[in-house]
Amino acid sequence: MDKVRVRFAPSPTGFLHVGGLRTALYNYLFAKKNNGSFILRIEDTDKNRFVEGALESLVDMLDTMGLIHDEGTFTNHEIQTIYADKPRINPAEATVSKNYPSLVEIGEYGPYIQSERLPLYKKYAKKLVESGAGYYCFCSTGRLAMLREEQIENKLPAKYDKYCLSLSPEEIQERLKVRAPHVIRLNISDERGDIVFGDLVRGQVTIHARDIDDQVLMKSDGYPTYHLANVVDDHLMEITHVIRGEEWLPSTPKHILLYEAFGWKAPAFAHLPLLLNPDKSKLSKRQGDVAVEEYLKKGYLKEALLNFIALLGWNPGAGNTQEIFSLAELVQTFDLRNVHKAGAVFDLKKLDWMNAEYIKKLSPNELYQRVKSGNFLEKDLIKEASQEMQTEEYLKRVLLIERDRLTKLSDVGDNNPFFFASDLMYHATLLNWKENTKEMTQEALQKAHKILSELSNADWVSKETVEKVLMRAAGDPAHSQDGSAAGRSRGDFLWPLRVALTGVQHSPSPFEVAWVLGKEESLKRLEKALKKLS
Ligand code: GLU
Repeated sequence: MDKVRVRFAPSPTGFLHVGGLRTALYNYLFAKKNNGSFILRIEDTDKNRFVEGALESLVDMLDTMGLIHDEGTFTNHEIQTIYADKPRINPAEATVSKNYPSLVEIGEYGPYIQSERLPLYKKYAKKLVESGAGYYCFCSTGRLAMLREEQIENKLPAKYDKYCLSLSPEEIQERLKVRAPHVIRLNISDERGDIVFGDLVRGQVTIHARDIDDQVLMKSDGYPTYHLANVVDDHLMEITHVIRGEEWLPSTPKHILLYEAFGWKAPAFAHLPLLLNPDKSKLSKRQGDVAVEEYLKKGYLKEALLNFIALLGWNPGAGNTQEIFSLAELVQTFDLRNVHKAGAVFDLKKLDWMNAEYIKKLSPNELYQRVKSGNFLEKDLIKEASQEMQTEEYLKRVLLIERDRLTKLSDVGDNNPFFFASDLMYHATLLNWKENTKEMTQEALQKAHKILSELSNADWVSKETVEKVLMRAAGDPAHSQDGSAAGRSRGDFLWPLRVALTGVQHSPSPFEVAWVLGKEESLKRLEKALKKLS
């Protein structure tokens, strides 16, 4: 087999869509698995859909997600940092993009930005005209609209009627001489029977040529359409496998005809299943976010998002129930044969679950760095807290306690606002455990106060020490026959302590809360609780 060469070929029209991320990911996995090259090519030939800055942010987003390509279009930053230690990429070989000065291109098959390859498409379109596989069409938009209306009236499919195919060579030359607006179309013969091609996901696909319109290949503005540019580039860049979304399946027979017309070998095709909303409609912006960036901004980890996306349309094979995969494990396990045909539902609940799993695995330090660099500490709850509660040390303690219960990085503090509050709003009666009297509660709080004030600041460093002394005071029912110690239940002691420290009934354990708050703040809260009772 030829050396595997695959490409991600986005049209930069805004942001990186989650579907685009999946296409990029599968291409990346396939390339890595097969020791091949992953190329980033930019398909920017639709001038009407140009969005300022979109291309640069798209290339950046692929980096952020860790889908590092081997060849094609790069940002300067990528070349200097990510690729600094990659022998295959030589910054000295980078050429600055003509049309996007902040980007560079590296590789032997460049340029990799289609708007920089226009002369090539012209040359190949001309070849098609010369061989009769393509023809000039001078029809005005007015004529085409009338034709379309007629077809609608007669319930006929939308197809160009090949009117310009009957123009004589002289007529064509005359019109070209006066620069009459024109396009170049693909000439699909009515005699051409079925177009049959193999798809690595869908098996054999058959399409009747008569159902295909004479596709415009060169537009009147001198730009190629997607179809021509895509085929010319895939051929010239020696792409071996075209892995792309199912929405491109209807275009593939046109591409097959183009490969035939040029006498080129077509690459292998793999069309990835559609991404669906839970109601099985096509994943759309209306039903939620589709921009990768939005998910990161919401506090999803890039690793979790990639893992989740990997399973949208692929599974590790029969009998393998593994769901959590690192990128390296995905490379090892990925196989196009395990990509399925049926649409894949984008299930946010599953993403939440997966994200929580990934958060649990982060070290406190890493979690802190992620939360900080993602600006998730920039929320009023935290910004309005005292200076001590905003120190790195304090926040790391909060994160260590919250880590196992976070769904998203952005949730930090939300479930336990008492970590950042200076005044707790609760009713004094909440301090009483069950039917206990005020006096019993006071006694418990005083006891807690005494124990905690006897702990040195050094003792406080260890969560376990704080827990040990408090548990001892609470009595350990496991050691007494009736499930209580000295006739008391743990609740007598722990309940008032919890409420005094948090102001609520449900929270992480009071030891954990005391440990996070620190000695001074814990004692202060106990004193406030005692005051409420007096
Ligand atoms: N430019 C197309 C896109 O935006 C590429 C489709 C293909 O991979 O052939 O998705």
